[in-house]
Amino acid sequence: MNREANGNIDRWVKSYCPYCGVGCGLLAGLGDGAVVKVKGDPDHPSSLGDLCAKAVYLPETLKTADRLVHPQMRRCQDGPFTRVSWEVALKSTAKKFCEIIDEHGPNAVAFYGSGQLTTEEYYVANKLVKGFIGTNNFDTNSRLCMASAAAGYKISLGSDGPPASYADIDVADCFFLIGTNTADCHPVTFKRIKRRKMSDPDRVMIIAVDPRRTETADFADLHLSIRPGTDIALLNSMLHVLIREGLVDQDFIAEHTRDFEKIRALVEHYSPEAAANICDIPAPLIVEAALIFGRAQAALTLWSMGVNQSTVGVHKNNAIHNLHLATGKIGKPGCGPFSLTGQPNAMGGREVGGMAHLLPGYREVANALHCEEVARFWRIPPGRISPAPGLSALDLFEAVGRGEVKAVWILATNPAASAPDTDFIERALRLAELVVVQDAYHPTGTTQFAHVLLPAAQWSEKEGVMTNSERRITYMPKVAEAPGEALPDWKILTLFAREMGFQEDFPYESSEELFAELVQLTQGTPCDYSGASYERLKKEGPLQWPCPGPDHPGSVRLYGEFSFPTPDGRANFIPVEHQEPFEVPDRDYPLVLTTGRVKNHWHTMTRTGKAESLLKSCREPFLEMNLADAKRWAIRDADFAEVISRRGKAMVQVRVTEEIRPGTCFMPFHWGRQFGFYKAANNLTISARDPVSRQPELKACAVRVKRIMDFPLEDN
Ligand code: SF4
Repeated sequence: MNREANGNIDRWVKSYCPYCGVGCGLLAGLGDGAVVKVKGDPDHPSSLGDLCAKAVYLPETLKTADRLVHPQMRRCQDGPFTRVSWEVALKSTAKKFCEIIDEHGPNAVAFYGSGQLTTEEYYVANKLVKGFIGTNNFDTNSRLCMASAAAGYKISLGSDGPPASYADIDVADCFFLIGTNTADCHPVTFKRIKRRKMSDPDRVMIIAVDPRRTETADFADLHLSIRPGTDIALLNSMLHVLIREGLVDQDFIAEHTRDFEKIRALVEHYSPEAAANICDIPAPLIVEAALIFGRAQAALTLWSMGVNQSTVGVHKNNAIHNLHLATGKIGKPGCGPFSLTGQPNAMGGREVGGMAHLLPGYREVANALHCEEVARFWRIPPGRISPAPGLSALDLFEAVGRGEVKAVWILATNPAASAPDTDFIERALRLAELVVVQDAYHPTGTTQFAHVLLPAAQWSEKEGVMTNSERRITYMPKVAEAPGEALPDWKILTLFAREMGFQEDFPYESSEELFAELVQLTQGTPCDYSGASYERLKKEGPLQWPCPGPDHPGSVRLYGEFSFPTPDGRANFIPVEHQEPFEVPDRDYPLVLTTGRVKNHWHTMTRTGKAESLLKSCREPFLEMNLADAKRWAIRDADFAEVISRRGKAMVQVRVTEEIRPGTCFMPFHWGRQFGFYKAANNLTISARDPVSRQPELKACAVRVKRIMDFPLEDN
C-alpha cells in the first residue's frame, strides 16, 4: 500500500466543503476507510485550492462519541430514550403523522430543514410534504439566512439567483462590502478579494460598511461605521450623489429598467447630510463611497447577514440593486450585486423549492400554473398542492406553540440554539405532541426536545450535490461508511414516504435517481440545470447554472444580455425608505446588540465545537463593547457582565475595544444553552421579522450591560 508518510493516506478523493456558501472544493484523504485529512482541491473553480481552518479540521468532527448511531424513541420529553429499529421508528412515526393529519388536517404537521441538506434531500422532502402529505409547511434555516436576498432578487430583477461569480472578483476594481464580515465568515472569498486588491492596490478600492471594525473593515480603503440598521439611508444617499454627479448610466436605465423616476424623486430627500444624521457618520464619507462606486469601471457589492437579518431586509436588498441598476453595473465582467450565501447548500434548497412558498425551479405555490406543472410532473391530481404558502421558520414554531401544528420534524439543524429568542423556541418545542429530530449528533440543544431521534449520515458518508453562492453545482461522493445505523437524509425521507403509503411515487434507491428527476423540473426555468447529471459532474467537475443542455458549458454570470426575467424584460427600481430596527435603544436598554460569527466556528458548534484545534481559538462567548460605553457602566476589559434584553440574559466576559462603534455591542451566537444556559446570545435576540421574507432581525435588539464580576487579577 502506497501511503503518504504523514497521514496514513491511501488516496485523495474530490469533495466539497459542508460548512459555508463559499463552496470550496476539497480533497479528502482516506486511510483505513475513514477521512483522515482534508486539503483544498486546486481544480475547483470556486476556491482554486484554497480552504479555511474549519475544513482542515473536518476529520476530527466525524466519528465523535456523540454521533447518533441508532433510532431512538420515548413517550415524553423528560423520559429516557429507548433504542428501536428503523422499522419501528418509521412505522410508529408515520402512524402518528397519519392520525394527526386525519384529525386536524395536513397543516397540523410541519418540517424544518437546513442548508446542510443536499439538493436531492431538499427535493425529496419537498415532494413528500408539498405534493403528497398536502401541506406547504416545509421551511428551512435558510429563512434565517438568505430569505431577504432571495426575495430582493425576485422583486428587483425578476428572479432569485446571484448574477455574479467569483471570477468577477478577479476583474472588479471596486468592492462594496456591506453587512458582511467576509474575512471571518467567507474567508476564502476574502482572500480572493485581497489578492485582487494587492494586484493593483492604487486602482482597486474596497469599501466596508459595518458598525464593527472587523478584519474586513481593517483591510478596506474606506470603512463606514454606520449605526446598525441604517443601510437604506446610506444606499439611498449614495444614489443621490451618483445622480447629482452624473454617474448614472442613462442608456442602461432607459433601455433595461423601469420606474427610475420614482427612485430619483425618493433619493432627493437623502442628501449626504440627511443620511449622515441617520447613519451617524460624516457626510463626506458617504460622498466618497458613492464616488468610488460610481467611478469604478467594475463594481461588485457583496453582502450577507448584516443586510438580510433585518425587519427591512428585503428593502435593503432592493436598495443595493437600485445602485447597480442606476449605474448599469450588472451583467458585465466584475460587476453585480452578489449575496454571499451562509450555508453550503442554501442555494440548492432554493432551486428545488426549499422554502414554504416555493416549488422546484423557483416556482411558487401561489402561482396556479406553477402548481399545475409540478402536480403533472409528480403525477398527483391538479389542486393537490395547496396555493397557500406554508409556515416560514419562526411562524412555524409560533404555530407549534399555539397548538395548531402538532407534529414537527427537524432535519439537520438546531433551532433551539440558532433561532432568535430561545425561550420562545423552547416553549414551542415543549408544547408539540410529536418532535422528530433527524441529525448526525445527540445531544444538541434541539434533540433534548425530541420524541423520536433518527440518526443521519453526514458529510463524506453520503453522496449528493450542493450549489454554492456563485450558482456552482458540485458533486460530493460518499467516501466513508456512516457510523452505526445512520442513513442519508434522502433515504430516511424516502423510507418514511413509503410508510406513509406513497410507495410507488418514492421508488428511489439512490440520490442519483433523485437528481435525474429534479433536474427535469428545472428545465426552462431561470435556474435550469437540466444539462447536468452525476456522470457529467463527476467527469467534467462543477457546473454553474443556467446549464440547459448536456453541451452547454454553464453560465459565469446572469443577465449578460441585460434582459431580466420580468414580463417586459426590464429590471425594477424599487423605492425604499429608511426604517429604524424593530427595537430601538431606550433608557432601560441603551445599547444595540448585534450578533454574528467568529472565524473558526460554524453555526451552533455541533461540529466545530468537537475540533480542539478550532475550539482553542475561541472557547467561550464574549461581548465586544466600546471603550466609552464600558467606562460609562464601569466595566473593564475582561470583566464578566450580564447582558440583559427584554427576553432574557446572558453572562459573558467583556472585550473592551474601540473597534466597535459606541452604543453598539457584539456577541457571537454559536453557543446555545447546551454549553451553559447563560452563554446563549439567542437568549437576548428578537423574533421580529421582515414582512415579506419573514427573516428575523438577528442583527439588532436593545440590551443593557451590567458588570457582575471583576476579572480576577491579583491586584483586584
Ligand atoms: S471558506 Fe467556507 S467553504 Fe471554504 S473551506 Fe472555509 S468554511 Fe469551507
